[in-house]
Amino acid sequence: MIFFIAILIFVICKAVIKYSGEAAPGARSGANEANAVVCAKRMDISGGERTSVHYYVTFEMEDASRLELPVKGFEYGRLAEGDRGVLRVAGGRFAGFVRNESRFSAADPDKAAHRCPACGAPFVGRVCEYCDTPWAEPAAK
Ligand SMILES: [Zn+2]
Repeated sequence: MIFFIAILIFVICKAVIKYSGEAAPGARSGANEANAVVCAKRMDISGGERTSVHYYVTFEMEDASRLELPVKGFEYGRLAEGDRGVLRVAGGRFAGFVRNESRFSAADPDKAAHRCPACGAPFVGRVCEYCDTPWAEPAAK
């Protein structure tokens, strides 16, 4: 009997491993990453006595199409309208958003790309690689 149960557990484990092993690469190949901007957020509160809150974020893609996806509450809180980044969608579901443009990055010339004030060449860093003009931060508005 114990032997039988052991085999049963083994079979179940194998099936689970096989299933998750198949699901993972499938989800990966089905995942799409695209540049997107958070353009709207909304909360949907439903139910009477037992209310449940659903969170939705609308992303605008590079081709100007818009995509509204349900997200979890903590993801909702992390996304702000106007955020630019890479949206990851797997199986038609929100699978992450990586902001690629921090609102503070402009103040960090080591990382930000900018245009040389002298020769107009784009470069990253503190000194233009073409004419050695140091990058001067634009005056704050
Ligand atoms: Zn230059």
